[in-house]
Amino acid sequence: MDNLKYFWNKLKYNISSLMHRLLAGRYGIDHLYRFLTVIVYILLFIQIIFKVRHLYLLTMIILFYSFFRAFSKNHQARHKENQLFLQYQRKFSSWFNLQIRKLKERKGYRFKVCPHCKQNLRVKNIKGRHTVRCPKCHNSFEVRI
Ligand SMILES: [Zn+2]
Repeated sequence: MDNLKYFWNKLKYNISSLMHRLLAGRYGIDHLYRFLTVIVYILLFIQIIFKVRHLYLLTMIILFYSFFRAFSKNHQARHKENQLFLQYQRKFSSWFNLQIRKLKERKGYRFKVCPHCKQNLRVKNIKGRHTVRCPKCHNSFEVRI
């Protein structure tokens, strides 16, 4: 029994030190890696459920790209890619949240874009022409509801 425990601990130590040597100096996991992994799982799920074979190549490309990024030693380039991804993710999530808000408040309000600063404005849903003052850039403009 002690022998088995000894070998088990030795195996755990060897695997752990091997992983440390393998991953030393590598970029590792970031937001883009996690996102790509989710995409790979979704594509695999689609392939299994709908029996779409043509997605196989795309799945493998995404999978190898995510591995390439995780094992890359060029931290600066990978960080730059991740920042670009996060920038697009923030834009998408703010757009998505706005669409949800528009849907929730569609009965009481209309959403208009300020022509001067492109700020989204919420205007009460009262029919007719109104002069609206943008709270961000303080310019006034006319809207028709
Ligand atoms: Zn404005």
